[in-house]
Amino acid sequence: MSKLNWGMIGGGEGSQIGPAHRLGAQADGRFVMAAGALDADPARGRDYAQRLGVAADRAYGDWREMLAAERDRPDRIDLVTVATPNNTHFEITKAFLEAGFHVLCEKPMTMTVAEGEEIVRLARDTGRICAVNYGYSAYPMVRQMKAMVAAGELGAIRCVVANFSHGHHAAGDDADNPRVRWRYDPAQAGVSGQMADCGIHALHLASFILGDEVRTLSADFASTVPGRVLEDDAMVNFRTESGTVGRLWTSTIALGRQHGLDIQVFGEKAGLRWASEQPNQVYLHRLGGRVEIMEKGEAGLTDEAQRLSRVPIAHPEGFPLAIANIYLDLANRIAGAPAGHLPSAEDGLRSMAAVHAAVASAKADGAWVDARPPMFR
Ligand code: NAD
Repeated sequence: MSKLNWGMIGGGEGSQIGPAHRLGAQADGRFVMAAGALDADPARGRDYAQRLGVAADRAYGDWREMLAAERDRPDRIDLVTVATPNNTHFEITKAFLEAGFHVLCEKPMTMTVAEGEEIVRLARDTGRICAVNYGYSAYPMVRQMKAMVAAGELGAIRCVVANFSHGHHAAGDDADNPRVRWRYDPAQAGVSGQMADCGIHALHLASFILGDEVRTLSADFASTVPGRVLEDDAMVNFRTESGTVGRLWTSTIALGRQHGLDIQVFGEKAGLRWASEQPNQVYLHRLGGRVEIMEKGEAGLTDEAQRLSRVPIAHPEGFPLAIANIYLDLANRIAGAPAGHLPSAEDGLRSMAAVHAAVASAKADGAWVDARPPMFR
């Protein structure tokens, strides 16, 4: 297959998520990093892109310049990744979709539900791919769990419990740290702090593994560090379309937890547990049996779990390779080849609807509210 041209917006030098995209996109040799507007500072962005091997005339100072120049090139980029701060995602994603580019957008896809619906409609109308980087859903053992649930190995699912709780903003005197401050500032983060930042990963994983979307929810939000406007801790109870009970805890003040993303699924016949800090293992407990550890790469796993496993059994397989799995299937989809599941604009929209529903519920003392976007009701 011929190589695809890839461009990146945001993810500049020193950014948190930029390296995972560059490693992931280039892991399989399917994408070449051909263009970039990597930084809020044009000079820094141009310089860094060139140090990463981008040609000088495609190392852009900002995304509008990149869009204008790439649009008319015969070798224009096939895919653009949007890895800028949240409040720019909608504008950039919309502009590139309208110009006919495929897009991989970082989460949260938009700030509002209306913007999310607009992106979904635009992706449908233009026929372009708009994927959202829910990278945890591309871990081989997460795909294994999804397949086991779908095959009925757990029986009817009674309950799912998902957490994304870490302790990295536990320091009260960190409130003025620029990397922390914006996350609790409504002007920059939007209506929600930790729920929009991390809770949506846990919620997406729950609906992804179950194959069942969130229908209603009830939320309790707390700002435990004085001075924080947006929540740094949230408990969300939810029900899925088929009535499964859901529990989600997300926090930034949970000292003792590091990354803190884990999920348990409880069915009539068996339960499963997975944690992002040990992504190679799934714990399986069949009713009446003992807890078994299923290991990535062992015999008997589903074809999808085997396909997305890149290193031999028992070797660490981490976050950049999960992101590589997203890029692998983006390349397949663009080339018209068979591809696995890609987290979509619809997923990004559902997350925004759930975030806004959680905010409304928390303001109404935990009242149960409809968590679905209007266009999916
Ligand atoms: P960051 O602050 O570490 O880096 C942001 C980068 O974007 C910087 O290099 C900055 O210069 C650049 N930038 C800002 N505005 C820009 C603009 N207008 N044009 C071009 N570049 C611009 O942020 P981060 O932690 O890397 O987060 C970026 C996005 O990725 C956020 O939306 C965040 O929610 C998301 N994220 C997702 C995951 C995941 O697992 N999917 C993990 C971390 C972050």
